[in-house]
Amino acid sequence: MFDKYTKSIFINGEWLAIDPNQTETVYNPATLDAITDVAYGGREETEKAIQAASQAFITWGEMTGRERSHILYKAHQLMLEDADRLGEILTTEQGKPLKEAIGEVKGAANFLLWYAEEASRAYGEWIPSSIKSKRMLVIPQPVGVVGAITPWNFPASMITRKIGPALAAGCTIVLKPAPETPLSAIEIVKIFERAGMPKGVVNLVTGDAPAIGNAMLTNKSVRLITFTGSTEVGKHLMRESADHVKKVSLELGGHAPIIVFDDADLDKAATMALGSKFRNNGQTCICANRLYVHESVAEEFTAKLKEKVEQLKIGYGLDEGIDLGPLINQQASDKVHAHLEDALTKGAKIISGGNKWDGELNGHFYNPTVLSNITDDMVVMNEETFGPLIPIQTFTDDETVIKKANNTDYGLASYIFTETTSRAIRVSEKLEYGIVGVNDVFPAVAEAPFGGIKQSGVGKEGGHHGMDEFLEMKFVSMGI
Ligand code: ADP
Repeated sequence: MFDKYTKSIFINGEWLAIDPNQTETVYNPATLDAITDVAYGGREETEKAIQAASQAFITWGEMTGRERSHILYKAHQLMLEDADRLGEILTTEQGKPLKEAIGEVKGAANFLLWYAEEASRAYGEWIPSSIKSKRMLVIPQPVGVVGAITPWNFPASMITRKIGPALAAGCTIVLKPAPETPLSAIEIVKIFERAGMPKGVVNLVTGDAPAIGNAMLTNKSVRLITFTGSTEVGKHLMRESADHVKKVSLELGGHAPIIVFDDADLDKAATMALGSKFRNNGQTCICANRLYVHESVAEEFTAKLKEKVEQLKIGYGLDEGIDLGPLINQQASDKVHAHLEDALTKGAKIISGGNKWDGELNGHFYNPTVLSNITDDMVVMNEETFGPLIPIQTFTDDETVIKKANNTDYGLASYIFTETTSRAIRVSEKLEYGIVGVNDVFPAVAEAPFGGIKQSGVGKEGGHHGMDEFLEMKFVSMGI
């Protein structure tokens, strides 16, 4: 199904076949069957792609926002029309249930729509001068060639969330998707091709991550690195970007707390906690990693959550009615297991789950697991689990729980459940996170800024703030 495209690298508007021996296999994480082999590019291909993107930038950057908008809008439409098929491809390579995959594709298309609209609205400024003989203006201009590196957990939306604003701003792109999920990336690039994207504006290189990354980092023409992935790789990219003083936009790991106060709507809180923790099988950077529940409502809340967790259906994502797919690989499963074992050794109690799923599929499936009797020294309370495991700790006063919630190097998303407005505002202001969800655990939308503080990242994606990352503000000082 993917052949012509998978054995090629997309550079300057052409699918260039590379050495047929230079390929990497993509596996279905639910069955562990091979899906196909994908071209394994490296430095040489990346250099060519950067060259093409540099050339294309000359004309793409000079087009009007409205002209760029038309192409983005067309890509948005094509993506929506094809959402079901793209969803199937996404589930096959990533594992998430089909309904989530189709939802992701639609969300991914929405980033293209939002930035198609924003392309015409990159306003500058006219600054009132303090000197009579001067006029001062600020002109937004695209930063140039962008190196985009994306992860496997959202193989479609992490791409459009970067490419959408970059293209709207007038930048050109070299994209490197995750090796686990290159097929969605290939499909998205095909959509841009069909939408009439000029040659060289979007280029795709699959393959050797360190070599591709290094080619991006050491080439002066690449002016911005936009990355979503682990904090470790993000730090590496940030360090190496220093040599050319490249701009960086980094969406890294998280360790999100959910705080359920005593005045919370417990049904809503339990439903949302379930959605936050088990969507994509716990493999999102904004997934709840720890739950703090007020002592007076802990028993009732835990019972509600347990009931919901036990209704979750595990299985092959393409099958009807599945809520939880596999983890992406063995390493991911081992990590969940290690966090569980550590917690149990230190006294945690199992409320639900607590072991691997022993169904018929070969993939790495884990039963959704809820733990109580949690202490702060447990690994799960300090490191990102990235899997279907949630510890519940109780608390008695606001100040202590806020302190605990903030006691981490991460600062991406946090969530609170309360029906009191003043508490919602007070606690939101005190939480050291880039995102606070109040009675809401789904804050990733096209129109609002998404991004972490502390070691969770730099910069924003989404909203007009997301487009600012790809624009330089040039000051023109005029004597008249
Ligand atoms: P994960 O552990 O969840 O796969 P990573 O941070 O390793 O997260 O991967 C996110 C993305 O970064 C993927 O596309 C991956 O191939 C890429 N990547 C990993 N290492 C490097 C590197 N040294 N340089 C550039 N990209 C990298």
